[in-house]
Amino acid sequence: MDLTDLTVHELIEKLDKKEISSEEIVKAYADNINAHESDVKAFVTSQADEAIEESKKIDEERKAGNIKSKFMGIPIGIKDNICIKGVKTTCSSKMLENFVSPYDATVIEKFKELGLISLGKLNMDEFAMGASTEYSAMHKTHNPWDLSTVPGGSSGGSAAAVAAHEVPWALGSDTGGSIRQPASFCGVVGLKPTYGLVSRYGLVAFASSLDQIGPITKDVTDSAILLNLIAGHDEKDSTSVDVQKKDYTKALTGSVKGLKIGVPKEFFGDGINEEVKQKVTNAINQYREMGAEIEEFSLDIANYSLATYYIIACAEASSNLGRFDGIRYGYRAKDYKDLNELFVNSRTEGFGAEVKRRIILGTYVLSSGYYDAYYKKAQQVRKLVKKEFDEAFSKYDVILTPTSPNVAYTIGTKSNNPLEMYLADICTVSVNIAGLPGISIPVDVSKEGMPIGLQIIGNKFEEEKLLGAAYALEQKIKFRENHKPEFKGGK
Ligand code: GLN
Repeated sequence: MDLTDLTVHELIEKLDKKEISSEEIVKAYADNINAHESDVKAFVTSQADEAIEESKKIDEERKAGNIKSKFMGIPIGIKDNICIKGVKTTCSSKMLENFVSPYDATVIEKFKELGLISLGKLNMDEFAMGASTEYSAMHKTHNPWDLSTVPGGSSGGSAAAVAAHEVPWALGSDTGGSIRQPASFCGVVGLKPTYGLVSRYGLVAFASSLDQIGPITKDVTDSAILLNLIAGHDEKDSTSVDVQKKDYTKALTGSVKGLKIGVPKEFFGDGINEEVKQKVTNAINQYREMGAEIEEFSLDIANYSLATYYIIACAEASSNLGRFDGIRYGYRAKDYKDLNELFVNSRTEGFGAEVKRRIILGTYVLSSGYYDAYYKKAQQVRKLVKKEFDEAFSKYDVILTPTSPNVAYTIGTKSNNPLEMYLADICTVSVNIAGLPGISIPVDVSKEGMPIGLQIIGNKFEEEKLLGAAYALEQKIKFRENHKPEFKGGK
């Protein structure tokens, strides 16, 4: 049996019955990292060797009866914008290439208490700005289904590592789709929780009113389990919300009888690939067969979401990234004559082109002459987006759309055309603007054998409905049983 074919819930069961050890699990994943990493390049920093050592200690503790939790000894991969004390957090940027975090993010603190083991830090678009992981200053990550294609982004390293079985599950972050879209491209499950459900403390900020950490997993059950582990109020993050703790796995009943589903027609129009439309529609029809009630409706504010998102995200990014000045964190230019030149040269040399583009755009929309015309307008449209979703959720339990307008494309196709890259976020950004939860699950593959994802959107803090709906379809479609990445084009 190959342990890396198992989901985390299956591994936990075996660990519990003492059929396997943590060392065996971690070694199996380390072997896969050795086998695939030269093709996939999902990691920025591998901690595989340290993880093996840690697993041995954990096995000893387990034997001695010191059991912290049933997750003790389970490995995980972490997106490289989430801080682990004593480990590099680069955000895949030259700016933070040698930055070693002096503290743990809250989610990492929780993992340490439970006894989870980090296998390493995963590649991403620089500062999470992008949709293909091509904007990483480190290297490009390749999609395990076809190595000539992108894994999506910005959490492309996390999604590719889960798909390639280099990690059993991973954390990503999602500001405008960065968990869901790479999950869709790599045929895995990606969940962006409600804004405020998971602490952002220790997540390097991109756009603070949109960012959320979330799980990227092999299946929906693992997604619910990982959400159980990371959700919860944190006084270190003033935007985290104090909601009652839930066990999300309880929602996985397999039934959607009577579930009211809304399908917004704007997400099935021009710009969405025909095959994606067709396969996602097939998936929606399966819900009908399972007894859900499906209705088409109009969410026309969605047409303005993309513009709104790019104004708000860039404005917040320009402010958040002000802290990288060559003095307090990260990269410092070698040559400068005075303080001003130190700032300018450090930022010029430390940031990549996409990050600079966003800082410039963000500074522009916040500048005194343009604030009202752009930033304030965007905030007003944001209110309208929320209102339309509120109205929709007064009628429907969940909303279904494609996750991405297309499947994974060849590396290099869009990286020189920022606008085309931005357009690829059309299906995901509204969810962040409204602070809602959204999940992407794989439902089928294209003619070329590339995964297609369905997005399920829920109302605030209604992750249970969304996970329940996702689980029911997963049980019916059995995507994992029928499709596997083949590392096409690999050695
Ligand atoms: N692709 C989107 C962007 O470039 C989303 C990024 C994200 O969610 N971090 O902004």
